[in-house]
Amino acid sequence: MTNRHERRANNKKNRSSLGKAKLRCLACNSVSRSMNKEHYWPEWLIEYANIGNSKVYWLGKNIKPGAATIPLCIECNSAFGTQLEGPMKSIFDDLDSGKGLSDKEAELTIRWLWKFEGISWSINHISHPTLRYSEKWTLIDRVLGKSFGDYRDDFCLAVGVAKKNDEGFSEWPVGLDSGIAIQNSVFVSGVFYKFAIMSLDAQFKHLVPKEFQLIQLKKTPTMEKEYFPDAQFDTIRNAVKITQAASIKLCLSHELISSISDTSNQRTKLLGFEPKRIELP
Ligand SMILES: [Zn+2]
Repeated sequence: MTNRHERRANNKKNRSSLGKAKLRCLACNSVSRSMNKEHYWPEWLIEYANIGNSKVYWLGKNIKPGAATIPLCIECNSAFGTQLEGPMKSIFDDLDSGKGLSDKEAELTIRWLWKFEGISWSINHISHPTLRYSEKWTLIDRVLGKSFGDYRDDFCLAVGVAKKNDEGFSEWPVGLDSGIAIQNSVFVSGVFYKFAIMSLDAQFKHLVPKEFQLIQLKKTPTMEKEYFPDAQFDTIRNAVKITQAASIKLCLSHELISSISDTSNQRTKLLGFEPKRIELP
């Protein structure tokens, strides 16, 4: 456990490394491309959660969520925008108006969680000199590429919905509840606006609380709307509390499997269960 001074020093180091990282894209590791800024909290989500004027804790400072940006190359920024953030906003629109979710949209939501976790992980380790998202993937390949391999139906998305915000609050939560994992990069959970969402390996689906609708991906993606998660949480505070409690067990289970991963097992390898996510010097 680090003390307050160490944490402050670490935040300062990460802020300065983030400045230096402007020359290298966090998503594809390319050093020679034109760079621009990606919002850590996408603008559409800031609007949904009504947090544009709030302050959030970011690398040791309180700033407005729209000011939290990370350096990405123009190609990655645009790929994330068109292939993920645009569709994700529509998914939120449809969930919010009761139009439901398709299997393909459940997959996109899992990818979106992986992007969040991957960027958070990268920022957390940014002062490491040989930072790599994993030995197998760059972040952009993991998030947008063929990361499900032949095991698409081994992944689940869990979606919970809150009936209302907490009394007296107009701002909604946005953020990860799974923390930064050490070895696994499959389990990610968070509460965003009125939705609690989790990505997980299907073998741990019994650990998902009953308030969530569990969607196990199919072997091949389908586009019909067939999942309609109900509002099972009375308030958003309850959704956060239950998500956080379940995340402890789910995270430990995924970490444990990753730490004993058998490298001769193709499935384990494809799931991103790498024994190391960074190369130690
Ligand atoms: Zn890039």
